[in-house]
Order: sequence, then structure tokens, then C-alpha cells
Amino acid sequence: MRQLVSLIRCPDYDYKSVKRAVRDSIELLGGLNSIIQGGEKVLLKPNLLSPKTVEKAVTTHPMVVKAIGELVKEAGGKPYIWDSPSIGSTTWVAKKSGISQIADEINIPVLEDKEIVTLNAPKDFIFTSFEIAKNVLDADLIINIPKLKTHSMMTLTLAVKNLFGVIPGFRKARWHLIAGNKFFARMLIELYLLVKPKLNIIDGIVGMEGNGPGNGIPKKIGLIAASFNALALDRVLVEVLNLDPEIVPTLKEAKRSDLEGWELNKIDIMGYPIDSVKTKRFKLPEHMDVQWGLPRPIKRVLKDTVTVRPYIDLKLCKLCKSCYDICPGNAISIIDDKPIIDYNECIRCFCCQEVCPEGAVKIKKGLFLKIFSH
Ligand code: SF4
Ligand code: SF4
Repeated sequence: MRQLVSLIRCPDYDYKSVKRAVRDSIELLGGLNSIIQGGEKVLLKPNLLSPKTVEKAVTTHPMVVKAIGELVKEAGGKPYIWDSPSIGSTTWVAKKSGISQIADEINIPVLEDKEIVTLNAPKDFIFTSFEIAKNVLDADLIINIPKLKTHSMMTLTLAVKNLFGVIPGFRKARWHLIAGNKFFARMLIELYLLVKPKLNIIDGIVGMEGNGPGNGIPKKIGLIAASFNALALDRVLVEVLNLDPEIVPTLKEAKRSDLEGWELNKIDIMGYPIDSVKTKRFKLPEHMDVQWGLPRPIKRVLKDTVTVRPYIDLKLCKLCKSCYDICPGNAISIIDDKPIIDYNECIRCFCCQEVCPEGAVKIKKGLFLKIFSH
């Protein structure tokens, strides 16, 4: 089956321009009335990773969420906003990122985490069940609203990766241990197939490059893009960013499993052609996969010299302990009021970098990598 992806240029966050771009991107796919029945509850799922102000480009821009919220209401749906941040409550992050203000303006509730429910997976999945927030199951349909960003572990966070937010708060870190780096992309794909958003609209007006998703550099891309298929949207965005899909683990996994959406020649582009919105020199995170087929002791020795690893700039650290709290490998200790990383335990998930509110967790290249990357 062929997939549709719409690409619409949008130069800035002026509300009129954003609403026009969002409306056009949806109309080109067939319009909201093709997916929403009157009175249906619609979860708007932005990226509310952490409590950062809007100009940091960490969270989905409030103008994009506002435009989608208004359009859902016009289509007769009952929207509500929710995401589970890696640190802090939804209310706190929504307030800091400007989402609460627009929600008040257009009279849409921002929900907190309520109950957690277990969702059993089909028999052919590797992971048998997922604990997700009940806010997700309460919706008749989900509109996924990611922010276009880099990701130190998964290269990029686009539509599929944004759905990791349905796992409540600190339970996310546990998945780094359960799935490990090797099966993390598979886990994300299975989670996507389980929650299956009806529509995905990405905020790529100002994205993030470098060491995302929490501490990269804002990058103007000027794009709103939408699709009913999250994988197809991700595949097209990789093309827009001029990157090789093989470096995005979720797309690699989708190709391996032959899922609908990974093949560019089976996607119809609506709106602007890919070439007209291509971004040049998009900076990736300084990461490298460490999962070689070597015995564990050798891998441990080599990974410090060949790969990248997190380190903490103590001059910037304010000792909030978010990195300590989230670290799935229990690799961080607080010694003499300083967070210290034990590299023997560190699994290179970069959760610490993702949650650090001060940008104090940096990435350091191993010796060999330094030599060969110069
Ligand atoms: S490194 Fe960052 S997250 Fe960790 S304690 Fe310091 S400020 Fe907090
Ligand atoms: S120290 Fe950072 S990268 Fe290492 S396991 Fe902990 S959170 Fe992950």
C-alpha cells in the first residue's frame, strides 16, 4: 500500500502562518474529518521532554499544538494534551514550554499522569507487554506531534521515537535495561505498532541539531510535515535532512521487518517536493554504536577508547541529581556533592545528557575515535 506524506514550508512561528501550514498539511492527506467522528476524544501528544523554554527547541512549539487543537475542535473532536516528561510533571513542563498558556486560550485540558495500565502485545512481538499511561488508552485516537531533533542514542527523534513518551516518567529508564541498546529500536517500533497514532504532524519549523534531544542547538528548517504513517514520515524527513536512513536505528529495524513506510519509492509526497525543502549540513550527535559482537570484558576495555561517553562538567552542574535519578545502569554516584560516572556500569544510553537541565552532561570521544575523526 502506498503512503502519503505532506511537506509544507513555514518560515516562523507567527500563528497565522503556522495554522495555515498545519491545515494545508492535513488537508493534503484528506483532512481531519476523514479520521475524526464528532465527539471523539483526541489525545494531542507533543514532545514535552523536560522543563525548557520554547526558544531552546526541546519541546514541540505551542503554536503548532494550538493550531492542531483548534482544527480538532473545528472537526468536532474533543482534544486534550498529555505527554510524560523524562523529568518533572506534565504541568510543570507544559507551563515552562508555553503549552499551558495556549491550552488555556483555546480551552483544552492538559492532563497529568493518572493510572498506569499494562498493554499486552501480540504473540509475534519480542516484548510481551508495555506499561503505559491510561491517558493514552482513554483516547479514541492519538495525534502525534513530535519535534524534529537529534538524539544521542537513536540519531534522530521524529514521529516513532516521540511515542516513547507514552511510557510514564521514570519507567522509561527501565526500558534501557530491558531492551538494551541492541533491541531498543525494536522496542520503539513495537510500541509504535501498539499505540498507532492516527495522524503524525511534526514541528520542523525550528528543529534541533548536535547533541539532542535535550541540549543540542536550535536549527531553522522551516517545515511542517504530516502523515498517517509515522514510519513514512520519518523516512521522508531523513531525506529532507540529507541523511542515510541506515543510521537511524528505527528505520533500519522497519526495513529489516519490512514494515509499511520504510521504502521511499512507495511514498507519495504532497505539497512541496523533497528537493525544495532539503536541509544542508545538519549536525548529528557525536555518538557511535558500541554493540559489536565481542566478549563483554574486551568490549568494556575497548568501549572507553573507541566510543563516545558522557562526562559531567562540574562547573555547570547544579547538583539537581536528575542524572543520578534517571540513570538506568546505576552508573552515577554522588560523592562529595559531585555526580561521578562509573564507566564500567555506563551503558551509553545518554539519558543523563537528555535530562540535565544545565547542559552539564557533555559527550567525550574515546582516544581512538578522536584520532580517526580528525
Ligand atoms: S550533571 Fe546535570 S542532571 Fe546531573 S546533577 Fe548536575 S545539573 Fe543535575
Ligand atoms: S551514566 Fe548516563 S549514559 Fe551512562 S548509563 Fe547512566 S544515564 Fe546512561
